[in-house]
Amino acid sequence: MKIGFIGLGIMGRPMSKNLLKAGHELVVFDFNKDAVADVASCGAKAAANSAEVARECSVIITMLPNSPHVRSVALGEGGIAENAAEGTILIDMSSIDPVESKKIGAELARKGIRMMDAPVSGGEPKAIDGTLSVMVGGAKEDFDKYYDMLMVMAGSVVYVGELGSGNVAKLANQMVVACNISAVAEALTFAKKAGTDPELVYQAIRGGLAGSTVMDAKAPMMLAGNYKPGFRIELHIKDLTNALNAAHAVNSPAPMTAQMMEEMQFLKAAGYEKCDHDSLVKYYEILSGTSIVKED
Ligand code: NAD
Repeated sequence: MKIGFIGLGIMGRPMSKNLLKAGHELVVFDFNKDAVADVASCGAKAAANSAEVARECSVIITMLPNSPHVRSVALGEGGIAENAAEGTILIDMSSIDPVESKKIGAELARKGIRMMDAPVSGGEPKAIDGTLSVMVGGAKEDFDKYYDMLMVMAGSVVYVGELGSGNVAKLANQMVVACNISAVAEALTFAKKAGTDPELVYQAIRGGLAGSTVMDAKAPMMLAGNYKPGFRIELHIKDLTNALNAAHAVNSPAPMTAQMMEEMQFLKAAGYEKCDHDSLVKYYEILSGTSIVKED
């Protein structure tokens, strides 16, 4: 099976390399020539553009920043719809608006091209290890057919439902993560203001009902004053924008997500957009005029 891979950024580059390691034949493209050369040096064929990928491959994976990029590669000039043969499948692994996934899929279907949305969670370390969590929307028979190929990049690949459902799951993940980080930040800032060591509060509550994967990943970073990404505030803003659009499109009010959006917009305005989303703690520190960073 010859696989096309378009989008060789932080995530796409290690994911494509894992497919090569597993013995798949790859044709790759990105605007970034260095990224293309790097993946080509591991055995992929470098394509000059997306059209070449589409002409040569019956399975095409995209790992692009957001909905407009996927729309342009799928349906734009020189894109997949114009150049791929009938029967081709697009597996979009980017995190995009599920409403857009459905619209793009419907337009591709008119050309006889199928589509699945298969966004991932786990970040660069898990992309490198091949242990991402993949959530898939699309036809069940396509999921079954490409399950083994997706598992090369993943620790888990879960079928969620029709096209768009993968991104609904991903946005649900991003809503929970944002609210959870914010709750941890608010609680630890409160502890500090109340004169109780936030580090000891974290140790005291992490094993109880309040404990979470997010708390264990982010509380130590907040206490160390470490805001190195990880996952950047600007990317989380992109996901929350898509989450609010998608929620409003189905008449599902999302007040906590709206609150999180405003907290992140504050951080962007304050210059933290390139920082890890644990920098949400800065919002609470500035509000309350304190810092929870441990003093040596
Ligand atoms: P990135 O910005 O590092 O990479 C995107 C790549 O797409 C870039 O190399 C860019 O040159 C390329 N690109 C953009 N438009 C293109 C086009 N028209 N044709 C060819 N190439 C094009 O982004 P990333 O961090 O790899 O993230 C990709 C997706 O995965 C995003 O939707 C992101 O939200 C999601 N995601 C990222 C992480 C993470 O921790 N970075 C984790 C989970 C999911």
